[in-house]
Amino acid sequence: MLIKRALIVAVAAFLLLSCRAGELKRYNRSGSAMGTSLTVIFFTDDSKRANEIMDELFILADDLENRLSTKKAESILSELNSKRELVIKDKVVLETIKESIELAKVTDGRFDPSLYHLIKLWDIENNSAVPGEEAIKDRLSHRGVEGIIIDGNHVRLENNIKLDLGAIAKGKIIDELARRLQERYHIDNFLINGGGDIRLGGRYGGLRKWKVAVADPYNNGEIIGLIELENCSIVTSGNYERYFIDEKGDRYHHIIDPETGYPSQSGVDSVTVISDSTSRSDALATALFIMGSEAGLAFAEKQKDTEAIFITKVDNKIEIKQTERIKSTLNNEKKWNFTLE
Ligand code: AMP
Ligand code: MG
Repeated sequence: MLIKRALIVAVAAFLLLSCRAGELKRYNRSGSAMGTSLTVIFFTDDSKRANEIMDELFILADDLENRLSTKKAESILSELNSKRELVIKDKVVLETIKESIELAKVTDGRFDPSLYHLIKLWDIENNSAVPGEEAIKDRLSHRGVEGIIIDGNHVRLENNIKLDLGAIAKGKIIDELARRLQERYHIDNFLINGGGDIRLGGRYGGLRKWKVAVADPYNNGEIIGLIELENCSIVTSGNYERYFIDEKGDRYHHIIDPETGYPSQSGVDSVTVISDSTSRSDALATALFIMGSEAGLAFAEKQKDTEAIFITKVDNKIEIKQTERIKSTLNNEKKWNFTLE
């Protein structure tokens, strides 16, 4: 009996040890999802399931996009926009709407999920003409989160507003992918990058911090530096990807200032926000871009666990400003190394 018990203990100890010794292998996949590129990297010792897990994540990203995007006529969001009131049983969609309202309040309406009409009027991706002033004024009168009335899971839109969650949905989808990895598969070391919205789980291979590139807003495809991070979300909003230039040479980009109805002219060209959630970093990056570097920095310093890097050009010289916890040094290749204290 004693021998049997000792054997069981020995076998259990062996299993425990072999589990510990199980080597974490890196798996990665890139593809398209959410109207952009999606890259997933994770570390696991479960080689048999890695491919299946990847398949599942890419399917989940498409599925969430189909529920949240106003670009999809069949989405729950599109249904809400057209019917004006809807019982929303979809937890993620309802949560995203509620979170948007919170973030709109926190940012004093700079991030505004009710800008659908204005965004459609500008239609930056397909248009290259500046809309008329009257049309802009008209669309500005149909916005504001006061028009979103939520009672349980019943959502009603007032004041003829419609929702566009383009500045937060990608972040939310990435958070859901991360949740799936952690809760269902117990994978804690991962990176999910959806078109520049990045969630970092744990560390690279469980060992060292992740190194994330910060894009150079003035040179396509180049980077301005690298930032070392662990277990957080980092999102950049910039004016250098989606825009058109009019005949006078003025640039009109996709981040609309809800005060003016025009693309934000805060002088900032790129804002990177780091926080503990991708949806929050996503919405805040948009809001801080509009606030500009001075007000944006003051705002970020006041928020708990929220860091930001602003890139601007003053007299043709690049200026980088960041919250106090972010330290930076210039390396031999004239790129910045950022670290978080
Ligand atoms: P992002 O790339 O995260 O900065 O989000 C930009 C997208 O969010 C745009 O393409 C619009 O769909 C939407 N958007 C633009 N301006 C705002 C704003 N002030 N508040 C909320 N969403 C916005
Ligand atoms: Mg955003």
